Amino acid sequence: MSIEENVKMIRNTIEKDVTLIAVSKTKPVEEIKKVYDIGIRDFGENKVQELIDKYDKLPKDIKWHLIGHLQRNKVKYIVGKVHLIQSLDSIRLLQEIDKHYSANNEIANTLIQINIGREESKTGVLLEKLDELLQQCENCNNVKVKGLMAIVPQATEESCRCYFKKMKDIFEDLKKKSFKNIQMDILSMGMSGDYSMALQEGSNMIRVGQGIFGKRNYNN
Ligand SMILES: *Cc1c(COP(=O)(O)O)cnc(C)c1O
Repeated sequence: MSIEENVKMIRNTIEKDVTLIAVSKTKPVEEIKKVYDIGIRDFGENKVQELIDKYDKLPKDIKWHLIGHLQRNKVKYIVGKVHLIQSLDSIRLLQEIDKHYSANNEIANTLIQINIGREESKTGVLLEKLDELLQQCENCNNVKVKGLMAIVPQATEESCRCYFKKMKDIFEDLKKKSFKNIQMDILSMGMSGDYSMALQEGSNMIRVGQGIFGKRNYNN
């Protein structure tokens, strides 16, 4: 199927209140343009340099989502260019974001990424450190937390479902509490292989790369 057909197919299967993010990492601007031309405005990148290059070359009404690990020394490059930082996962990063955004009089919209599967190879905050991070967010007025993000371990269908359910529980639990600078609106989970299940379990933002653009080639 073509890129356009893939997008239409996904759109037809998701509810109106679900945000589809086209994950365009490694993909050239010509292909992103095709997806843009059929109406998609949310794009996800996992590297700061790549995001900035594409930001410069593509229309300014694109909402860029940073979905990969954000190094503290790169925060200064993204101020004012990213719609949503989905990978907030430490107090040190939080403070760095707050510092640069307040210096520029900007607000950073973020999701807290949770390492729900406790995978060593993955970033994201561990559950036992979540409270402390949330508390610190209350002191950072130039950072707004809009919800949570997770990548679940790729194992069996039952284990994936279990992690999605856990995320939904944490999300609902936090929704009941009130913290300064924190709102639980967005639950970002589900990728090409598992977005249908993620949606069944309560996701309202999915991040789809290969299911739209086809296989990634990291050698380019
Ligand atoms: C690459 C990536 C995706 C998209 O993965 P696909 O399998 O290509 O859909 C989603 N989320 C994150 C954080 C990613 O890095």
